[in-house]
Amino acid sequence: MASSDCLFCRIASGGIPADVVYQDQHVVAFRDISPQAPVHFLVIPRRHVASLNVAQDSDRDLLGRMFLAARDTARAEGVADGGYRTVLNVGADAGQVVQHVHMHVLGGREMGWPPG
Ligand code: AMP
Ligand code: ZN
Repeated sequence: MASSDCLFCRIASGGIPADVVYQDQHVVAFRDISPQAPVHFLVIPRRHVASLNVAQDSDRDLLGRMFLAARDTARAEGVADGGYRTVLNVGADAGQVVQHVHMHVLGGREMGWPPG
């Protein structure tokens, strides 16, 4: 897929506006357009990786950076102490809609378990 065809590649490059809450050379975090919790943002790699299913061993550093960006942004958003959930939807059964790997970070309310 060309990055121009991918919604999250376009957000990462600034071609489509988003409410960015964190960015560095490797990852971007922005608020979900349809928030499911008082705090709900997505962490994505700048580079196009369609899903965790096709991530390579060489993406180890990039995947780690996504978690560390989630950690720092959760702290900045004020949910680190109360707790938050990280979610990667992978594939059809999990309801992955956007084919660019993204980590949901949800907080600011109690979460149910098991997830739906
Ligand atoms: P998933 O179902 O895991 O693929 O989640 C995709 C997420 O992207 C959903 O929670 C959407 O609300 C969110 N989303 C879709 N378009 C945008 C956008 N333009 N800006 C921010 N979030 C978006
Ligand atoms: Zn992409």
